[in-house]
Amino acid sequence: MQVTLVILKPSAVQRGILGEVISRFEKKGLQIVGMKMINLTDEVLKVHYSHLVEKPFYGRIKDSMQVSPVIVMALKGVDAVNVVRKITGSTNGRDAQPGTIRGDYSISVQENIVHASDSDETAQIELSRFFTADEIFNYPQLMIQNIYANDEY
Ligand code: UDP
Ligand code: MG
Repeated sequence: MQVTLVILKPSAVQRGILGEVISRFEKKGLQIVGMKMINLTDEVLKVHYSHLVEKPFYGRIKDSMQVSPVIVMALKGVDAVNVVRKITGSTNGRDAQPGTIRGDYSISVQENIVHASDSDETAQIELSRFFTADEIFNYPQLMIQNIYANDEY
């Protein structure tokens, strides 16, 4: 089992589609093991988007992530990092496949509804950026036998 980080960006909060987006992850079979609403500070964003800080458009990305609070979620499942990235779709909502969250809800590169960790290593770093150990819950997924074969998890 792997745990990965998802952020429901202000584009999801403001458009009132949080429930629909969260529902997609739930219906897939991923278990929500952490979730809260927070404001993203300048300091956290600089670290979270460190690969973009030098870009001329970093300022607009930062502003966009501070339009409202966001929801941070920890999602657990077999190969959760890859599964969640696939459900999320490619960065540019205009290129993202229909059926993905970005493909169905976004027509923008920036206003693309969700962030999802891109590797197991990144997921662990990003989860510890937004959650303390006691905010990630360990509880039985009661329908697990209907979600996986018993040798899959
Ligand atoms: N972004 C943008 N313009 C770009 C590249 C990225 O506005 O040319 C924004 C977009 O919201 C994206 C985020 O910065 O989701 C992080 O970029 P990254 O390349 O890590 O894409 P992601 O991992 O979110 O698909
Ligand atoms: Mg990224």
